[in-house]
Amino acid sequence: MQYRVNDLSVLGFGCMRFPRKGAATDMKQTEQQIMHAIENGVNYFDTAYVYPGSEAALGKILEENGVRDKVNIATKLPHYLLKEAGDAQKYFEKELERLRTDHVDYYLMHMLPDVNVWKDLCENKHIDEWIDEKKKNGEIGKIGFSYHGGKESFKALLDVYPWEFCQIQYNYLDENSQAGREGLNYAAAKGIPVIIMEPLRGGRLATKLPKKAGNMIAKHDSRRSPAEWALKWLWDQPEVSVILSGMNSMEMLDENIRIANETEAFSMTDEEHEFINKVRDAINEKVKVGCTGCAYCMPCPAGVDIPGVFRCYETSYIDGFVTGMKEYIMCTTLRSNKSMASLCVGCGRCVSHCPQGIQIPDQLKNVKKRLEGNIYKIGAAILKKRFPY
Ligand code: SF4
Ligand code: SF4
Repeated sequence: MQYRVNDLSVLGFGCMRFPRKGAATDMKQTEQQIMHAIENGVNYFDTAYVYPGSEAALGKILEENGVRDKVNIATKLPHYLLKEAGDAQKYFEKELERLRTDHVDYYLMHMLPDVNVWKDLCENKHIDEWIDEKKKNGEIGKIGFSYHGGKESFKALLDVYPWEFCQIQYNYLDENSQAGREGLNYAAAKGIPVIIMEPLRGGRLATKLPKKAGNMIAKHDSRRSPAEWALKWLWDQPEVSVILSGMNSMEMLDENIRIANETEAFSMTDEEHEFINKVRDAINEKVKVGCTGCAYCMPCPAGVDIPGVFRCYETSYIDGFVTGMKEYIMCTTLRSNKSMASLCVGCGRCVSHCPQGIQIPDQLKNVKKRLEGNIYKIGAAILKKRFPY
């Protein structure tokens, strides 16, 4: 394993979606994966207060295997839930309890949108004073924030407080969106380590590539997988400190460990950079919404499965209308409560939660127009008869 900054492994374990067994975390599989990662040098584990069951599962596995001190735990304060000064302490105590630890190595303000929100947290919730105290008594190691907005707002945030690290969405499709390469370089120039999330854009750059882009990669002499190209593109950049990957199979874990071991900064050739630019162009020909499936917009009070319907909508362009339609019918009707795009009442509650800035109600209208015509109605009626939930 390679270690670039603060002895952190360049591959970090994203703990947002551990393997599931029914509605619960599959603890056996999760434990095997976490321990296998640690044995192979992974020492950065990223979770959050709002990831269901994640902190508790991670804490239990680390404690029961006696490896808490071998790893860095990164977790996040849901600052958007704070109502008054003192609430941060309550959430933090709960996190320590779930994680079965007395300190958090890397603590983030979760999805900090801009300087105004940060100033409000300082002025009205005294969060900066609280952080000082936690750092002084060793309960917080390093303080940072995760971020999904644009680059100017990102740079302003970096300038307003002595952050010790930050976390951004970054991958070859987002080179010029969100914080982007410009934001990454700005942070690196200030000496602020950058943790990368969504390196595969919610799996889109691994298993959900449009046919044309997938064929380009399949035919390349290197025989690299789509995921390997995406990860290599990131580790090629020395400004990248850690890449978080939500690895929920041993195969994926082993592949990522291998790539992390092999890929050094500046290792990609000009031809390879040019090739990725062409793959990006091929993907952009097809992408309609750009939803990563993070589900921060959920639940929708009207019952729309927002990430689900966007996934089917994209599929209808990327893999063909019939495939997308089939998925849409299954996704929206084969469940106890319907969840199709047309249920949206336009309340707008979801929009401010979307880190990708997607105008969700508008896009849902497009989904409705494309996927809820007569074919949908007939298909849904047939399925309903066969599977009367
Ligand atoms: S705008 Fe539509 S999709 Fe968004 S929360 Fe309201 S009803 Fe749900
Ligand atoms: S619409 Fe936005 S918030 Fe909702 S799942 Fe997609 S990317 Fe996430």
